[in-house]
Amino acid sequence: MNTLGDDPDRDGLDDRAAGALLGAACGDALGVPYEFAARLSEREVPAMVGGGLGPYAPGEYSDDTQMAVCLAEALRDHDDPRSGAALDQTARAFLSWRREGATDIGAQTARVLGDTERALAADSTGRTGAAEEMIRLSARMFGAGERCAGNGSLMRAAPLALAHLRERDQLAETARVCSLLTHGDPLAAEACVLWCEAIRRAVVWGSDEGPRSGLDLLEPHARDAWAGYLAEAEGAPPHAFSPNGFVVRALQAAWSAIVHTPVEAGDPDRYAAPVWAAVRAGDDTDTVASIAGALVGARWGRSAVPEEYVAAVHGWPGYRADGLTRLTGEIVRRHGG
Ligand SMILES: [Mg+2]
Repeated sequence: MNTLGDDPDRDGLDDRAAGALLGAACGDALGVPYEFAARLSEREVPAMVGGGLGPYAPGEYSDDTQMAVCLAEALRDHDDPRSGAALDQTARAFLSWRREGATDIGAQTARVLGDTERALAADSTGRTGAAEEMIRLSARMFGAGERCAGNGSLMRAAPLALAHLRERDQLAETARVCSLLTHGDPLAAEACVLWCEAIRRAVVWGSDEGPRSGLDLLEPHARDAWAGYLAEAEGAPPHAFSPNGFVVRALQAAWSAIVHTPVEAGDPDRYAAPVWAAVRAGDDTDTVASIAGALVGARWGRSAVPEEYVAAVHGWPGYRADGLTRLTGEIVRRHGG
């Protein structure tokens, strides 16, 4: 495992690592009130007023961050993110979340988790692993020609980057496997690979290169396709990628919001402005803003997230901003920090 101990910008790195998960959570909570509602105009500023599909309390984050927390806790508890034990903890956490914590849930995730729950209950030997079964059922859905490329694995992927800050290829592998838990379509896995690599570079170097920096991690045919998708995002405003339940459109909406909202160091809205733009994309606003918020938060750090958002954000299973930051620190330290 690589060590981060000699990093010349250790404080900055810790701030940016915390910004990834907190940025995702705050984007989620900012997008919650507007999910599937009338699209905000360019002049309207989103606020964490709650409501939405939950309905949610003001500042409460939704399924995107709830599922990210399931992943983050497994990364905190295991050395190898792709070990059977780590993946099983995540899979079982998803199942408990669906039973006890899910304030809302995407159609495809609901289907896979429901099928997994039934398969495990019917297994009298008790030997089938939860993750193994979940991946098998997701792959079967994809093999049967069902739609398996929703945005649900991308929306929860941010913590994965924190467990592989100096391990580029390992991160891509973990991003793929964790996507396949619920999303059998390789498109969803490819989106997770690209976004996680963008977050990794943002945390380690403060890079704003974005998802293009991970294109070489994809298979050649996928690389060409994604280069085209990213060019489309760079050439059109965020609302051009609505509806955005499809993972490609969700990533395009988030990336478009970031590239079309230029900000600079020291700008008080350097976190908020791109995330507001993501909310204004419309449709699945909390998910697009959570995806964008993870990368913007990683780029500019927790210290760039407005204090009113830090004070308000919260959600299942009881995290507030400080808890999310602590969790981030535990992951980074366990995996080489
Ligand atoms: Mg949501």
